Amino acid sequence: MRCDVAVVGAGISGALITESLTEAGLDVIVLDRRGPLLGSTPASTAMLQYELDTPLCHMAARIGQDRAERIWRRSRLAVDALRERTERLAIRAATATRGSIYLDGNVLDADGLAQEAEARRRAGFEVELIGPAAVRERYGIRGRHAIVGFGNYSADPRRLTAGYLNVAIARGARLYAPADVAGIEAGADGVVLETTEGRTVRADHVVFATGYEMLKGIPRKGNTIMSSWSIATAPQPRRIWPGAAMIWEASDPYLYIRTTPHGEVICGGENEEIADAAQRDALIAEKTRVLARKLGRLLPMIDPTPAFAWAGSFGNSPVGTPTIGPIPALPNCYAAMGYGGNGITFSMMAAQMLRGLITGTNDPDSDLVSFHRDF
Ligand SMILES: Cc1cc2nc3c(=O)[nH]c(=O)nc-3n(C[C@H](O)[C@H](O)[C@H](O)COP(=O)(O)OP(=O)(O)OC[C@H]3O[C@@H](n4cnc5c(N)ncnc54)[C@H](O)[C@@H]3O)c2cc1C
Repeated sequence: MRCDVAVVGAGISGALITESLTEAGLDVIVLDRRGPLLGSTPASTAMLQYELDTPLCHMAARIGQDRAERIWRRSRLAVDALRERTERLAIRAATATRGSIYLDGNVLDADGLAQEAEARRRAGFEVELIGPAAVRERYGIRGRHAIVGFGNYSADPRRLTAGYLNVAIARGARLYAPADVAGIEAGADGVVLETTEGRTVRADHVVFATGYEMLKGIPRKGNTIMSSWSIATAPQPRRIWPGAAMIWEASDPYLYIRTTPHGEVICGGENEEIADAAQRDALIAEKTRVLARKLGRLLPMIDPTPAFAWAGSFGNSPVGTPTIGPIPALPNCYAAMGYGGNGITFSMMAAQMLRGLITGTNDPDSDLVSFHRDF
C-alpha cells in the first residue's frame, strides 16, 4: 500500500494527528496492532488540562523560566485548540469546560502554592489564590489552600478518539487493524513499514503514535512506564460541588478528580512505576479502597462508593514534557510521545506540531519537545 503519511497507533494521539493531516489534504493510512481505542486511551480519566503535572515554578528551576513558560503557554493553546476543533467538527464526546482547583500538598505547601500562583500570573495565566476559609466555603474541602484555574476541558476519551478517527476516515484515511508494525526501513526517499501480518506500507513520512510501547531504535529520552488506578461512582448530580471544578493536588502520589455531565465522580491517582500489566491489575482492589477512602475524606458531601474501577499504563518523562518531532537516524520518521498525566493535551500539541513539520510550515515551539533538547 502507498500513502503520503502512515500513522502507527490508533489511540487519541493517532486520531488527532490523522484528522489534522487529512485536513491538510494528505493521504493517510493508520495501522494498529490491536485495534482503535485499545491502548492507554480508553483508561484515561481525560482531564484535559493546560495546567501541567510539573508546577511551572519547578519546571522553570529545571529547564529555565523562558522554556518552562513557553511549554505552559503552548499547553494552553493545545487545550483551547482541542475544544474549538471538537466543537467545530461537531464531535459528541460528553465534553465540558471546567475550572480547576489545585490543592496544597507535599510537593507545594501553602507558600509554594503562592509562588506557583505568582509564576503563572507572570506567564500570563489568570489564576486565583485562595485560603482555607474560601476553599471550604466554595467547595466543602477543609484545611487546604488552593490555586483556582480556568478553562480546562474534559471528554469521554473513547468517543473523542472515535470521533476524530471517523472525521479522518470520511476524508479518505484508511485504518488497518490488526497491523503490527515490526520492520522500518527509512531513507531520504521515504519509509517502508512491514507488519507481522505481511502487509507492506510505503509512505513519504511515518508518525509513531504508539503510546508507551515504543519500537526498538527510537530513543527513550529517560521515559519510564507508570501505572495509574481509577474509580467512578454512580451518578450523584445533586451532591456535586459548585461549578464541578476539576480537583487535583500538589502531592506525590496525587489524587485527581472530575465529574461527568451525568454527575458521576471519577477519581484517579496512586501512580506507581509499575510496567507489568498483570502486577498493575492485581492491585486494583487495594488501590480502589485507597482511592475511595481518600475521595470520601476530601469531599465529605459525596458518596465515594466505587461503581467501577480500572487501571492503565502510560509513559512518564523526567520533566513532565512530551517528545514530539523527527526521530534521530530515521529519516522522514516522527514520534508523538505525549507522555505524563497531561498525555492528551500533548497529543493535541503533537497533532499541531507534526502537521507543521510534515507540511513544511514548521512550528516555533518544536525545539521544546524535540529529541535534541537537553532535558
Ligand atoms: C489511568 C489513566 C489516567 C489518565 N488520565 C489522564 C488525564 O486525566 N489527562 C490526560 O491528558 N492524560 C491522561 N492519561 C494519559 C493519556 O490517557 C495517554 O497519554 C493517552 O491516552 C495516550 O494516547 P496514545 O494515543 O498516545 O497511546 P495509546 O492510547 O496507548 O495508543 C497507542 C496505540 O498504538 C498501538 N501500537 C503500539 N505499538 C504498535 C506497533 N508496533 N504497531 C501497530 N500499533 C502499535 C497500540 O495498540 C495502541 O492502540 C491517563 C492515562 C491513564 C492510563
